[in-house]
Amino acid sequence: MIQYQNFIENLARVRDEIAEVCERSGRRVESVMLLPVTKTYSAEVVSYVECAGLGMVGENRVPEAAEKKMQVKGNMKWELIGHLQSNKVGLALKTFDRIQSVDSEGLLLKLNSAVGAEETGRILPILLQVNAGDDPAKYGVSCQELDRLLEIALGLRHIRVEGLMTIPQLSKDLKVAEYAFNRLRIKRDELAEKFQAELPELSMGMSGDFVEAIKAGSTIVRIGSALFGVRKVG
Ligand SMILES: *Cc1c(COP(=O)(O)O)cnc(C)c1O
Repeated sequence: MIQYQNFIENLARVRDEIAEVCERSGRRVESVMLLPVTKTYSAEVVSYVECAGLGMVGENRVPEAAEKKMQVKGNMKWELIGHLQSNKVGLALKTFDRIQSVDSEGLLLKLNSAVGAEETGRILPILLQVNAGDDPAKYGVSCQELDRLLEIALGLRHIRVEGLMTIPQLSKDLKVAEYAFNRLRIKRDELAEKFQAELPELSMGMSGDFVEAIKAGSTIVRIGSALFGVRKVG
């Protein structure tokens, strides 16, 4: 496992790169949130994140995140960035503060009624996951079906849509990711206008492509290996 000191060095380097691309793109550095992705790493790494003063982590598997959350005391926010199966909705709602990977009407309705049944009055923040690169191997609603899904989501009482998320197709050619990022931003702008909805968040960019994502308008970069070292599995 990575040492705390190495993590702090990695964090400083990633933040420098974020600041640099923000400067070059004429964006304020506060407009980009760094979400450390701790999937496959131990719960101790989540404590590193907390010690460094970052208040949140991203995880892609519900049981793994739930397990780590039990081990980590404190006040972290947890974000789900991986596919959510409908039989895990209950545990996901206990574990996560925001769900970035909502990609179907069935899941939307199930989340809405489950949050309502909690009777806590909370409203669940979500992002809609879009397959902006039309990658057959990826989850996410297509750009064509997104309008309808958003319209449904905007009508639900216990859910607040904060924006869109995408994972581009795996490729050595950064143009592939760049295309998906720009397409997502254009689609967001179009939908915000069409539905008169605020959709402030664009969750896009990972260790290998966050510079391109920020240039394209990302507000949340999800970074794992650049902070915690190369992952063995997952
Ligand atoms: C794993 C993962 C990341 C982080 O990937 P890195 O390349 O390690 O930065 C970001 N987003 C999602 C959805 C992931 O599953």
